[in-house]
Amino acid sequence: MSHPSELWLPRRRHLLAAGAALGGLSLAGCAGAPAGGPSIGRVVVVGGGFGGATAARYLRLWGGQVEVTLVERNAEFVSCPISNLVVGGFKQMADITRGYDGLRAIGVRVLRDEVTAVDAAARKLRLASGGELAYDRLIVAPGIDFMTEQVGGLAAALESGRVVHGWKAGPQTLALRRQLQDMRDGGVYAITIPKSPYRCPPGPYERACMVAAYLKQAKPRSKVLVLDANPEVQSKKALFERAFAQHYKGLLEYRPNSELKEVADGVAKLEFDDVQADVLNVVPPQRAADLARSAGLVNVNNRWAGVHWQTMESTAAPGIHVLGDAVFPAALMPKSGHMANQHAKVAAAAVIRLLRGEAVNPTPVVMNTCYSFVTAVDAVHVATVHQYDAAEKTFKTVPGSGGVSAAANQVEGKIALSWADNIWHDSLG
Ligand SMILES: Cc1cc2nc3c(=O)[nH]c(=O)nc-3n(C[C@H](O)[C@H](O)[C@H](O)COP(=O)(O)OP(=O)(O)OC[C@H]3O[C@@H](n4cnc5c(N)ncnc54)[C@H](O)[C@@H]3O)c2cc1C
Repeated sequence: MSHPSELWLPRRRHLLAAGAALGGLSLAGCAGAPAGGPSIGRVVVVGGGFGGATAARYLRLWGGQVEVTLVERNAEFVSCPISNLVVGGFKQMADITRGYDGLRAIGVRVLRDEVTAVDAAARKLRLASGGELAYDRLIVAPGIDFMTEQVGGLAAALESGRVVHGWKAGPQTLALRRQLQDMRDGGVYAITIPKSPYRCPPGPYERACMVAAYLKQAKPRSKVLVLDANPEVQSKKALFERAFAQHYKGLLEYRPNSELKEVADGVAKLEFDDVQADVLNVVPPQRAADLARSAGLVNVNNRWAGVHWQTMESTAAPGIHVLGDAVFPAALMPKSGHMANQHAKVAAAAVIRLLRGEAVNPTPVVMNTCYSFVTAVDAVHVATVHQYDAAEKTFKTVPGSGGVSAAANQVEGKIALSWADNIWHDSLG
């Protein structure tokens, strides 16, 4: 990692300092440096998840002469997609963990650090390690944070480890797996789902299926309770309802309109009911991550970041592009890894053209496919295609495009695993 003090020098001095640090070696091919000509600009990307990693990669693949720095607080990328299979014991953490070397190999400067503040007027940001980074354009892809204040006692319950969310993959995924392994046969696992919108609409129902698949096999006297704040299943409704009835009858119970109000001593308090669970898995209400808020990018419902869809540039701060789950979505656009990857490509293409002083693509198109496992081997999918509508300045679904599985099947289970492998490579190299 470069010493932060190098990083906020004016551009020419910055390159000289980097060259000096390398003992006068040519900059061609070194981290963050342009290859094949003079630099057309410095882009800093914050967040190395699906959105940020993809943006950093495609800025280099398509831009060539863009200096790209990626700031990510974690050492490794841990994927939420497929993490429900880890919770069920059908995959391991190593299967969903990837490094950032693929990005380094194509010239992205990867800094393990945390961005603590953004000065949009001065076009620079501050790092937790103490330095500052200057940029010509900034891409912010920090994902989500939780609105724990909306559920009494939740912050303390999560802090104590008694309650887990498992909605950011990593230690929480493992903690949930361990709680399930330690649960007695005959115990109760309860998952609470917040009102939409939240990260990955089908994710909680997939998780319920994966936990039920594990318990059916290992602890068949147990029970899975799905406590949904929404009036109905939020994605692939008929397919999940069929899976609940076909595979988990008597084991899994789905309760709509069951919003979590409070957590006390491991008891989930709903509006009209208290639920005692051995393993309480709370998916908290969500908003754009803290950095989006502190950078002044949150301007929709005090919760999400608004963007100009043609470029993903913030509607609150010029020169800053926002991607992925932090964004207030266009109609029918899910908060998914696949969609964050697509946002990133729209942004990368636009940023390169803007740095070159060229016109941006007038009609970008993005698509999304979300696979969900309903047993350890059977999966279902839903797909959509979204085209930018210049008149309405937003993405709209293309009539007749996309679709949903007719029924869960093993072929789609294999395709779902291939999809994950492909998107990890596409985002990280
Ligand atoms: C259980 C589960 C299953 C899912 N399954 C699927 C699926 O099958 N298919 C699918 O497409 N999507 C799925 N998703 C959704 C998907 O994980 C998210 O939509 C996706 O991760 C969003 O990408 P992002 O880049 O916006 O955010 P993230 O991937 O969360 O990346 C944000 C990154 O920013 C970093 N960061 C934040 N703030 C800072 C800061 N200040 N400084 C430095 N770094 C920072 C974080 O450490 C993080 O690495 C699933 C989600 C869950 C929870």
